[in-house]
Amino acid sequence: MKWHKMSVSQQLKISLGLMALFVLLLGAFGIWQSWEIFQEGETLYNHPLQIRRAVSTVKHEVTYINMSLRDMLLAEDDKERDLAYERLLASESMASQNFDIIKTLYLGPQQDVQSAITAYSVFTSHLNQVVDMIQNNQEEMVRENLQSYGEFEKHHANLVESIRIIDDFAEAKADQLYDDSRNMLVKMAILNISVILLLLLSSYYISKKLYSNIKGPLDNLNLAFTKVQEGDLKIRSDIESENEFGHLSSGFNNMIETIEKNVNVNKSSSVLANIMMMEDEVKPFFKSLLSGLLSEINGNLGAAYLLSNDGKSYDFLISIGMQDTFRHSFDAESLEGELGLALSSNQIHIIRSIDKNSYMILPTSTGHILPKEIMTIPVTNMERTIAVMTVASVEGFNSESIDLVENIMDMLKARTQGVLNYHMINRLREELQLTNRELEMQTSELQAQEVELKEQNRELERQKDELMEVSRLKTNFLSNMSHELRTPLNSVIALSGVLERKLKDRMTDEEKSFIEVIGRSGKNLLEMINDILDISRIESGKVDLLSEAFSLNGLIGEVLQVVKPLADEKNINLIHETKDQDLTVISDMQKVRHIVQNLLGNAVKFTEAGFVSVGARIDNNHFIIEVLDTGIGIAQNDIKHIFDEFRQADGSTTRKFGGTGLGLAITKKYSEFLGGNIQVESLLGQGSKFIVTLPILKPSEGENEKIEKIHSTIPREGISESKHGKKLLIVEDSDPAIVQILDILQEDEYSISIARDGVEAIQILKGMIPDGIILDLMMPNIDGFEVLQALRENQRTENVPVLVLTAKHMEKDELAKLKKNHIYQLIQKGNVDPEMLREAVLSMLCPPCRKETVKTVRHILSKLPTALIVEDNPDNRLTARALLQDTFNVVEAEDGEEALELVKEHIPDIILMDIALPGMDGVEAFRIIRKTPTLAHIPIIALTASAMTTDREIFLAHGFDAFIPKPIIENQFLGIIQRVLYGE
Ligand code: ADP
Repeated sequence: MKWHKMSVSQQLKISLGLMALFVLLLGAFGIWQSWEIFQEGETLYNHPLQIRRAVSTVKHEVTYINMSLRDMLLAEDDKERDLAYERLLASESMASQNFDIIKTLYLGPQQDVQSAITAYSVFTSHLNQVVDMIQNNQEEMVRENLQSYGEFEKHHANLVESIRIIDDFAEAKADQLYDDSRNMLVKMAILNISVILLLLLSSYYISKKLYSNIKGPLDNLNLAFTKVQEGDLKIRSDIESENEFGHLSSGFNNMIETIEKNVNVNKSSSVLANIMMMEDEVKPFFKSLLSGLLSEINGNLGAAYLLSNDGKSYDFLISIGMQDTFRHSFDAESLEGELGLALSSNQIHIIRSIDKNSYMILPTSTGHILPKEIMTIPVTNMERTIAVMTVASVEGFNSESIDLVENIMDMLKARTQGVLNYHMINRLREELQLTNRELEMQTSELQAQEVELKEQNRELERQKDELMEVSRLKTNFLSNMSHELRTPLNSVIALSGVLERKLKDRMTDEEKSFIEVIGRSGKNLLEMINDILDISRIESGKVDLLSEAFSLNGLIGEVLQVVKPLADEKNINLIHETKDQDLTVISDMQKVRHIVQNLLGNAVKFTEAGFVSVGARIDNNHFIIEVLDTGIGIAQNDIKHIFDEFRQADGSTTRKFGGTGLGLAITKKYSEFLGGNIQVESLLGQGSKFIVTLPILKPSEGENEKIEKIHSTIPREGISESKHGKKLLIVEDSDPAIVQILDILQEDEYSISIARDGVEAIQILKGMIPDGIILDLMMPNIDGFEVLQALRENQRTENVPVLVLTAKHMEKDELAKLKKNHIYQLIQKGNVDPEMLREAVLSMLCPPCRKETVKTVRHILSKLPTALIVEDNPDNRLTARALLQDTFNVVEAEDGEEALELVKEHIPDIILMDIALPGMDGVEAFRIIRKTPTLAHIPIIALTASAMTTDREIFLAHGFDAFIPKPIIENQFLGIIQRVLYGE
């Protein structure tokens, strides 16, 4: 492989490897040289040096031997001789050893060594002989031998000579070795220099090669990068080697190509983005977009299609370069052809290298062309393809085309949706403008109608006011009339009863039946008037709600007692189903009583045989009363009418059973007034069931406060005992009423002033202070209430007693007003009893007269006070008697007439008067007693469990001193009696 084709790492590895090898060689070369030098030195050391040292030693030892021998010869005693001999032996041994060294190391001819060793042997053997001579004291012979001519000396000279030869050789050898080593040094220096030079050259070559192989491509790449940095994206690196630089170069080229492509795509994208932002209308938008796109991707033809409003097809919108015949819509469902492929995948679809025989030869405005490539671009939004564009190129799209389309896709989607929205908003705006125009027209029409309606409204308001006025007048009329009617009617009923009883033995049956009819008709009429009054009060909203706790079963029991006589008469069984249960509820007791009374009354009335049952229960916050009968029943068709006023299920029932058709209407109104409802289930001929559901209410404030009798107890200071000369002011606007009052009072000789309205009354009162006033409440301008108020606000007149005379039905607040202003007595106008009026006026102007009477009567009759109980119910009577008998003489009457007789007979201290009495009722009996001067002073308490006591204030207004509700509760009962009698 060529050097430059090698990878950079390989080149580096090889270069560094070679360098290391050179260093190794250089090292090895050095070691070899050192070795050579060492060898040289070693030779030098081992041969000449060692040999010469050994030769020298031998020379010395031989000298010592000679000297030792002489010492032996010259020794003065044996000891000295022995010492010299020992030294001789040691030198001999040392010389022998050195001969061994010479023999081993000598490099010269071995013959020299052999000669020396032989000479030495000869020497030593002769020596031994000389030693023996010495030891044998043959001194002469020894001296002989030691002479220079002697034997011994000869051998010695011979030895020295042979040693010298060796020494000479060693010296010569040393010189030779020295010369050799000098020569070697020179050689080595030359070799060293050569090797170093060689290695230097090789290293230079390798480094140069490596440098050029790295620096060249690096410069090349560096240049390319610099160019790119300067913005030249056309520059490419031309390094073609297969090593890292080759890879780096191709990577660089690819990167630059990608950058160049991206830059181009971005440029084109920005061009297309500008185009897309320029148009808001659908057609111009796609037209400019298509033409821009074709020019950017090297396309020639193009078309755009939009999803139809019903979503079923893609309708042709616009094309560039296409013939008309190609402009058609296609089915959104079928997904055929290249458009279908793109739609089914929601991806850009491109067909490349289209065959000549392909069906895709496209008709253009200038002829047919065979596109090389076709691209289909679906535009989707929220997974729905809202538009499709297809473009074709004859030569083929440029390389960036797909990237470009993908790059602008998000904007394309957003803008397409935007353009479509804009289109839709425009359409809606136009529609809105149209609608607005229509609305404006309608508004002006409505304004005209509004003017008319306002006019009509004003008219309706006026009519409503009129109607309200009429309604008010009606209510007032009904209220007033019913009172005016009730007074004479009570007389009719009462008197027809009196007549019936008094004349019963003297009348024919026919006459009796006439009286009965009079009485019954009167009662019916009274009932109807009461009903009408109730209805009118409910309708005018003048009914007050007074809620209190009471026993529901107690109330039902009382009502059952009321209807019992009729039920007994008709032989109907009355069943009180929940009799034994303790059901205490809170509601308006009087209204509940009215409801139960009506339902039970009807049940008994419309039942001819069988039974009537009543039951009650509490369910959560409600109580339910059910009245069931086995009577005539009600036809389904009639059920919806029976609660209407004056409606009866069947007209014939009136004839047969009587009634006004108001009872259920009132019952329903009361039920609803109390927050409940009434339902009925009935089968004609089998019976009916009425179900009343009422809420349990909260008790009214001051529920336990008893409404006191409206009766003044104002002390009248300075009034004379005589009734004559008393000043009386009559305030009354009606002339007939004035005439009537004057007529009644004429005998009593009062000094009477008359005011015909409130203004005049106030005027008169400025000039005089009367002893009493008779005041009519209903007057024009300033009415009686205002006069009363003015009276009480003035210090001079605040204590003047006032007797109110009125035909008006008193509402609760009106009664309260009267009570607050201390009126002396309230007398219902109408058929006023003259005696009663006289007595009332007398009592007002002269109270001691009445008190006196009371005292007298009480003293005459008994030490214990007498109480008259007027009660038709034996049980109630029994109860009352039981409670009173310890403190009272108790006298009992079962009806009104008996009561009147007993009152006259006993003149009781107090009367407890049941209202619902057979024959003469309690109210009538009360009136008679009150108008009888001798009896008028007796306090009378109403017992008010009667079905007629729907409004207890009325009874107080009649003049009863108090009322006691039934069933009797001991403490309450005794407390009220005590208070009435003794004011405690
Ligand atoms: P009245 O009883 O005075 O006719 P109501 O308003 O109390 O008026 O009743 C209206 C009508 O409803 C009655 O005339 C009667 O036809 C029918 N009705 C009421 N209660 C019963 C009942 N328990 N059985 C059959 N019919 C009844």
